[in-house]
Amino acid sequence: MSTRFDPLPSTQPTADHIRDNILENPGFGRYFTDHMAHVRWTLDNGWHGHEVRPYGPLTLDPAAAVLHYGQEIFEGVKAYRHADGSVWTFRPEKNAERFRRSARRLALPELSDDDFIGSLKALLAQDHAWVPTPSSDADECSLYLRPFMIASEKFLGVRPSHEVDYYVIASPAAAYFKGGIEPVSIWLSTNYNRAAPGGTGFAKCGGNYAASLAAQKEAEAHGCGQVAFLDATENKWVEELGGMNLFFVFKDGRIVTPKLTGTILEGVTRDSVLTLAKDEGLTPEERHISIDEWRDGAASGEITEIFACGTAAVITPVGELVGENERIRLTAGGDNDIAKRLRTKLLDLQYGRSEDSRSWLTRLI
Ligand SMILES: *Cc1c(COP(=O)(O)O)cnc(C)c1O
Repeated sequence: MSTRFDPLPSTQPTADHIRDNILENPGFGRYFTDHMAHVRWTLDNGWHGHEVRPYGPLTLDPAAAVLHYGQEIFEGVKAYRHADGSVWTFRPEKNAERFRRSARRLALPELSDDDFIGSLKALLAQDHAWVPTPSSDADECSLYLRPFMIASEKFLGVRPSHEVDYYVIASPAAAYFKGGIEPVSIWLSTNYNRAAPGGTGFAKCGGNYAASLAAQKEAEAHGCGQVAFLDATENKWVEELGGMNLFFVFKDGRIVTPKLTGTILEGVTRDSVLTLAKDEGLTPEERHISIDEWRDGAASGEITEIFACGTAAVITPVGELVGENERIRLTAGGDNDIAKRLRTKLLDLQYGRSEDSRSWLTRLI
């Protein structure tokens, strides 16, 4: 039984020709659809007031807890249009489960699978025309869905909010990196860490991103688009990028990703890559990998590919790691063949071009 979301259709939806224009070149995160899903939570009444209402500014009290103490979490999910016009999403129950994990860490209320997936379906029922249609197999357009939850109670005091609002907004998207699968340069952060033991590294919360921006600025000053973070205790173990997980491909067919120890965000793409890599005859390993192993493996040719992965950018090869006094490039490989193969496998599944034998897809429309 799924919860009913009351539709409150916009009286001023975007005109068809304007929307079509946007869908031709949506970029990423620049345009938003006509509606948003909303559910309210209060300590006394739990979750209630499920609705899909016109997209627009929120009215928040200036004393709302989220504005002061950052009690907030979010998710990132994509909706893909298949060749027959139907619209699907990828492993949303993993996002729903992670959203509850994040909620527990941030002392926010937990949302059921039914409400989480129901909110995506209800929003798409109104805004399905905003899901772009791929023009070819190489066209990675989608509708990016952003569920998030904020502490909206008016009070200045440090305790979990007694009033919370959950929303889903949606934004049509082209490929995340303009360069497609061009390898990216990554900055090795030595001045900053992203997450510490006992902290919020495994939760998808705005605070982690706020804390990563100073490192991101450093990266940009050095010509890099992303930051690689090391562990906060020894500054030795590779964790992940600001918003993507990392994989290392070895000459002998091992494919290694840093083990989840509470300081790394458990990506749905990461989990899917671990599964698909096995199908490809590779040997996945989840273990610690040190920055020295990266340096040495890159120099010796043991490591043949490095790539980052996440819902937004799918799989993106890492061309070089730039540090204060070094540039680490791979001496072997360079064709990123495995990254490309895994990427194609993932996209073929998501766009319905291959058989969904693991039932990873959920139909939205
Ligand atoms: C969202 C996110 C990822 C990727 O997760 P996916 O579920 O694959 O999109 C990786 N690292 C961080 C820090 C993230 O916020």
